[in-house]
Amino acid sequence: MTIQPLEILQQTYGYDAFRGQQAEVIDHVIAGGDAFVLMPTGSGKSLCYQIPALCREGLTIVISPLIALMHDQIMALENLGISAGAINSSMAFAEVKTIRQQARDGSLDLLYVAPERLMMPEFLEFLDSCKISLFAIDEAHCVSQWGHDFRPDYAALSMLAERFANVPRIALTATADEPTRKDIVQRLGLQNGREFISGFDRPNIHYSIVNRDNPKRQLWKFITDNHENDSGIIYCISRKKVEQLATWLREQGLDALPYHAGLSAEIRNKNQTHFLRGEKVVMVATIAFGMGIDKPDVRFVVHMNIPKNIEAYYQETGRAGRDGLPANAYMIYGMDDAAMQRGWINGGDANDKQKRIEHQKLDALLGLCEAVNCRRQILLKYFGDASEPCKNCDTCQTKPEVFDGTVTTQKALSCAHRTEQRFGVGYLIDVLLGADDERIKRFKHDQQSTFGIGTEHSKKDWQSIFRQLVAQNFLEVDIAGHGGLSITEKGRNFLNEKQTIELRKPQKQTTTEKLKRKIKTTNTALKTEQDKDLYQALKTIRAELAKLKKLPAYVIFHDKTLIELATHKPQSLDDMLAINGIGETKLKRYGQEFLDVILIDAKTA
Ligand code: ADP
Ligand code: ZN
Repeated sequence: MTIQPLEILQQTYGYDAFRGQQAEVIDHVIAGGDAFVLMPTGSGKSLCYQIPALCREGLTIVISPLIALMHDQIMALENLGISAGAINSSMAFAEVKTIRQQARDGSLDLLYVAPERLMMPEFLEFLDSCKISLFAIDEAHCVSQWGHDFRPDYAALSMLAERFANVPRIALTATADEPTRKDIVQRLGLQNGREFISGFDRPNIHYSIVNRDNPKRQLWKFITDNHENDSGIIYCISRKKVEQLATWLREQGLDALPYHAGLSAEIRNKNQTHFLRGEKVVMVATIAFGMGIDKPDVRFVVHMNIPKNIEAYYQETGRAGRDGLPANAYMIYGMDDAAMQRGWINGGDANDKQKRIEHQKLDALLGLCEAVNCRRQILLKYFGDASEPCKNCDTCQTKPEVFDGTVTTQKALSCAHRTEQRFGVGYLIDVLLGADDERIKRFKHDQQSTFGIGTEHSKKDWQSIFRQLVAQNFLEVDIAGHGGLSITEKGRNFLNEKQTIELRKPQKQTTTEKLKRKIKTTNTALKTEQDKDLYQALKTIRAELAKLKKLPAYVIFHDKTLIELATHKPQSLDDMLAINGIGETKLKRYGQEFLDVILIDAKTA
């Protein structure tokens, strides 16, 4: 009799039941169907191909973009007693030969390769000599040029459908909007398969976006208030900023490391490994970092500048809280970010249509930054999901106040108009406030009707107002010139059609205070002092074992499993099997060590 998926889930992985659409996907793929799977990060996509790999006869090829991470993935599988290997350019010939032998003789269940390897004629021939049961294409959004991580190597994967017509294919991703989805299905020839699209929500992630004021101070307060003992990722816009910030954080005593494409592969790998293995490591990085990072206990993701678009934002923030425990996404946003992103789009070599799409995507992101309603609702709507206000984001917790901004907007736009639409925010505000300024006099703008008509708002207020008008695309920043603001078509329509508008009252910088109460809930399951102590003792033994076996701590057990052990306190190895995340192999390998800690604790309590 063949082994059932549920038995594998329980015995090998140590989990009670499938989540969401996992069971459906798995049944469909085991039966030989093609599938496109869109599920949020941390929802358990890997099982959707790993379990079919174990149930179907033959070898499953997993196509994964990052060689550097294959090793950890394979260690995690081996730790569950699953036979998996990789073939990549960093391996010695003898090692490759062994893996190939195992692949051919059927002793290997999963083989991880990068797309460029897969496409080598010699490798394809080798695959012909194996019995292939399934192709799993991970991070499938890389196939599409509408996706935000397009990789040309991935595009070549379209040949799988022809060359291996009888082998089912499953493509998996956590981020893809409608056009990207269609593109992936078409390119990978999955039209006859099924699409499994789960909700995008990551309820355990708290979202907040604050205006840039003093970024270092804002960051430092955010970390010290909420995440002093946690691992996190901080995204910066440039390599230089990454280096500076990492150095500064180290000076403040944090275990912070830089990561960007300008570092040698050796250093990048070293830093990445340190981050993956460590428990309180902060990675300061450009967007070069993060794809395929499976570290489950990343407790926060900070953006020091705005990301490229909402998909990128969701993907990047999605690296927090994979283990389902509370996590934080915190963005520090300023209007110059928007100008910079626009400049990159315009200066890029995409065609006009593509550029227009990219500008629209950026507009959607700016709308998110300036939102007066639930951030999560906006995010989910962007991906096509309707939802209620979440109560777990900054705008839900502290509703931004709005005011009728119709007259204010008229003043701002006419001021730009009367100064020939070639001056930046600072100048326009000076004119609106009637400042005594040489330049204004020289250009005779003190004689315009808009001079001094904006004194009902402060300078700071006006900055916020202009930011919103740019975010809502009433004004645009001329990046090629000197940052002058000009009125867009939408802005002209607003004036001509006498439309009305609500604006957000300038944000007060109290967000981190509010966050504090909400977020220190990671361990709320640990109610008594005794549970907390036991949890720490279990963490200590886990750290020792991890060091001994040269494994990331979470590969041994997740925090969630330790929390359950500390609260349920199983008294025998058999009892331990009932804990989430403890399957047969892990029980055999580590059960006794952890049980001893629990039993000793019970005696001394
Ligand atoms: P994704 O690839 O979708 O980001 P993973 O496959 O890495 O997510 O799974 C996230 C975590 O959830 C992993 O630790 C995984 O073992 C766990 N997990 C997956 N499926 C289940 C399940 N049915 N029950 C409990 N935990 C699960
Ligand atoms: Zn909300």
